Amino acid sequence: MIVRPLDNLGRIVLPKELRGMLGIEDSDLVEFFVTEDGLMIKKYYAGACRFCGIVNQLAYFKGCIICSDCIQLLKASEVVSKPDVPPGELPAKFKRRGLEVTLQELSALLEQYPEKSQYEIAAMMGLSPSRISQLKKQLNIKQLMS
Ligand SMILES: [Zn+2]
Repeated sequence: MIVRPLDNLGRIVLPKELRGMLGIEDSDLVEFFVTEDGLMIKKYYAGACRFCGIVNQLAYFKGCIICSDCIQLLKASEVVSKPDVPPGELPAKFKRRGLEVTLQELSALLEQYPEKSQYEIAAMMGLSPSRISQLKKQLNIKQLMS
């Protein structure tokens, strides 16, 4: 463990042995950021991957330099962590469909396929069975009122 005091301007000296370990030489740029464990100081590479520090096969994306390996990793992690549409939550394309149109479609399907179950009808319309149940009630109300 190395302990060093801050001076009155908040500066510290990085001990020579530490700089040697990190490959930091006089006048090199360092970057530092706060992590969960405290302050992280790294040698700054202007033309290096933001994530792993590699200096070849780089691409520039939204203000960051990223290497092709990390791009592949990012793509893979996006697929893994992509949230599924929660149950009961409908895909956007079905949400935009107006209620009136949805009711007409449901009414037409129910007439066309009277033997099909609520689940089958739901699958055909891309809606949840509970939504079909709600819509059926609305249809019944409409029919009673007409
Ligand atoms: Zn990288």
